[in-house]
Formats: sequence, structure tokens, C-alpha cells
Amino acid sequence: MYHANYHTHSHFCRHFKGTEREIVEKAIENGITKLGFSDHSPQVFRNGYTEGMRMGLDEISSYVGLIRELREEYKNDIEIYVGFEGEYLPSIFDGLYDICKEYDIDYMIMGQHQLEYPGGLTYERVFSEEIIHTVKSFVNTVIEGMETGCFSYIGHPDVYNWHAAPRDEYVTEMTRLCVRAKELNIPLEVNNLGHTENRHYPGDLFFGIAKEVGNSIVVGIDAHSPDQVNPEDINSTIEYAESLGLPIVKEITMLHPWRDGKTPT
Ligand SMILES: [Zn+2]
Ligand SMILES: [Zn+2]
Repeated sequence: MYHANYHTHSHFCRHFKGTEREIVEKAIENGITKLGFSDHSPQVFRNGYTEGMRMGLDEISSYVGLIRELREEYKNDIEIYVGFEGEYLPSIFDGLYDICKEYDIDYMIMGQHQLEYPGGLTYERVFSEEIIHTVKSFVNTVIEGMETGCFSYIGHPDVYNWHAAPRDEYVTEMTRLCVRAKELNIPLEVNNLGHTENRHYPGDLFFGIAKEVGNSIVVGIDAHSPDQVNPEDINSTIEYAESLGLPIVKEITMLHPWRDGKTPT
């Protein structure tokens, strides 16, 4: 039975519909007993550049406060956690770590939608020419991010759409990612939102590689609205996850080195 979900958003990301309370009530109604909010982490660059798809620095305390209020209010029905879906962007990662420490965040999952380049950030769609270089950068970044010990699992590890990349090179690169995830005991997510919306992820090619390597997987709803917490979609994603023949982690170990007084490695 599906009872723990760690990939849930909130209105602070600005591409969310409904309320956090509705999400909590939907989760309870559907037998979820552990619910982690992991909204897109704030991201502010040294030059002051911020983005529209995530909360601002001035909203962190409202986000954390709201989720903690819900946690208290619903504590007899469900365990609620407050986390982030974070990008590993080396030049500003110490800032994110400090935020996790300051607000005593329960956990982070990695949602790597972006890569850092000397000239700034890019999404994969922007950088489509030498696509295998982007694949390599992505894998290097995710590996470095996992090695910080700050990410409890990797959200949609196959989010980048690289159908134009040479298949054998893609396999080589993603094998590297999967091997390191396995060594570090970090599960890889089968993403419910992508599955429900028939996106290119979760995909057979990536999870075929994970199968060869023997990774463990976790199902994350990636809810951006209460409607997405519904048993039909979730069960269909679980069926897909089960068909992969990989061990499914039902409850993750939440990593929070900032709480244990560690400094980022
Ligand atoms: Zn989002
Ligand atoms: Zn997400």
C-alpha cells in the first residue's frame, strides 16, 4: 500500500493550484500516513537574480510556518514533514545549506532542472546542440550533489529529455549516475506527475539502466494540486514502478546533515 509521499508542492512556487490544507486532507482520505512537502527551494544568485518558479527568500518562514501549523493541526491523522526540492548548483549551494539549517528543514530531494555554466544557468532545452555534453554535465552535477549527503532521494532523474542524444553515450552516462546512487544508497524516483501526464519520464530507457545497476526506487506524487493526490493516478504509477522489477522504497531515510551539525562536504 502506498502510504508515504515526499514530493509535494505548495502555493509558494506559483505554479500550484489549490491549498496545502486540501492536499493534506486528500492525502489522509487516500491512506497516506506520511506526507512530505518539498516545494522548490528558494534560489538567489550572487547577482540578485531570482526566478519565478520558486519561493523567494522572504517567503521561507511563511512556507515553513504554514506546513508546521498543518503538521500540528493534523498530527493525529498524518505525519507531515517540511522539506525542499532543491537544485544542486555548486556556486550557491552553501546558501541553501544555511537555509536548511536555519529553518531546521526535515529533508531535501534533488530536483535537477538546471545546470550551472560559467555564463549562468541553463535548462536542457536551451542547450540542445552538443547534447551529450549536457548529459555529462547533468550526471556530474547530480553525482556531486548526491555526494554532499544532503539529498534523501533523486526526484525524476530522467527529467531531461535527451531523445536526440546518442543512445550508447546516454546509457554510459546514466549508468554512471545509477552506479553512484546505488553506492550511496540513494533511491531514484518514479515520478507520478510525469507518468500521469504522459511526459517522457518516467521512461523505460532510464529505468532499464537502473535495473541493470540494481537501484532502489521510490514513487513520488510531485503534487502541484490536490487533484493530483488521487488513487487512480497513483496506483497506475505504482503499477508501472512495480513492472520495473526494482525494489521499491516505501519510506525513505530523511537525510539532514545540517541538523546533525555537519558542514557540507
Ligand atoms: Zn514544480
Ligand atoms: Zn517537484
